[in-house]
Amino acid sequence: MSGQDRRAERTVVSPKGLDDDAVDRTVRRRVAVGLENVSVTYGDTVALRDCSFEVARGETVALLGPSGSGKSTALKAIAGFEQVSSGTVTIDGRDVTRLSPAKRGIGIVVQSYALFPHMSVARNVAFGLRSRGADRATIAPRVAEVLGMVGMTEYVDRLPRQLSGGQQQRVAIARALATRPGVVLLDEPLSALDAGMRKDMLGELQRLRSELPDVAMVYVTHDQSEALATADRVAIMRDAKLEALGRTDDLFHRPPTEFTATFLGGADVLPAGSLASSRPVPDGDHGLAVRPWAWRFTRTAPSNGLRVTVEQEQWRGAVRHVTARAVDTGERIGVDVPVLVDPPLKAETLWIEVDPADVMVVPR
Ligand code: ADP
Ligand code: MG
Repeated sequence: MSGQDRRAERTVVSPKGLDDDAVDRTVRRRVAVGLENVSVTYGDTVALRDCSFEVARGETVALLGPSGSGKSTALKAIAGFEQVSSGTVTIDGRDVTRLSPAKRGIGIVVQSYALFPHMSVARNVAFGLRSRGADRATIAPRVAEVLGMVGMTEYVDRLPRQLSGGQQQRVAIARALATRPGVVLLDEPLSALDAGMRKDMLGELQRLRSELPDVAMVYVTHDQSEALATADRVAIMRDAKLEALGRTDDLFHRPPTEFTATFLGGADVLPAGSLASSRPVPDGDHGLAVRPWAWRFTRTAPSNGLRVTVEQEQWRGAVRHVTARAVDTGERIGVDVPVLVDPPLKAETLWIEVDPADVMVVPR
């Protein structure tokens, strides 16, 4: 897309003279959050380096990356909790780089809930409305409405400590939504919950998403399954930089970098030429990425595979994850074996094979 096209797409045009589809497209793509070459430093640490991306109204972008990669810093730059050392932050096309957090019209949900411990659920949820000077007649129905959205209506009078972690997080979400923000930022919102609760809340967030068609969301997580479940587009963060950004399914099926392939979907990347199907691929600057579920063990030499020694096996519920080592190149390769299949024995030497369609070529 040329720069000019992109500008045209960003502009909110008068609906006059456009057919419904065109209006719909224009509105849907309206940029709600913009980061342009944003950097944030803490003393000598560059926590975010030259980061640029946009989030459209109604869109969820997940920031996915390992701990310390700059995800929370990017969120704080959008929210205004950290001063940027360079670059521009926009909300709905307006430069908010120097604006205080309270004036940005953003709702925020963090991992630790951060509810006010001495305030009831109702007062927590009402907090933002109250500090904007809303009157009682406005506050009460809105508090009831957002508590209804997260299924917490019957807990209005409780204190946070009288609630489970999952319930506290629901209240925190209701509080973030109470002022009808156009932008909602979520920083590892499920990380403090146990596994069962995390699954429930993820479903809950997906349902809420559909009830907020105009809200732009940025969802920070280190968990690829949360990113895949919630996001329209995923931004992969690595070492304070945006490594890759794309539609969730594009990034998953056609990872543009080796790091993306390993972080999203847990692929191992083999040297070019190590699989028969991919010999024609240019050597050197490319690797072959294969996800653990794509491999199968065989006892005879396959047409597209490798000879390996089994080193370790880990039962992970639905699968056993086997760590194998390529006999020729010494590469470590993860192989998921369905639990119903007997896993190969430790130290056994055999073969793994992969369907050529499941081999992804990535630049190294
Ligand atoms: P993530 O959210 O991806 O785990 P962060 O954005 O919190 O990562 O941190 C990015 C980098 O900035 C890390 O190296 C972290 O140690 C550093 N950092 C974050 N907050 C501060 C701070 N308040 N002071 C100094 N360094 C910080
Ligand atoms: Mg963080």
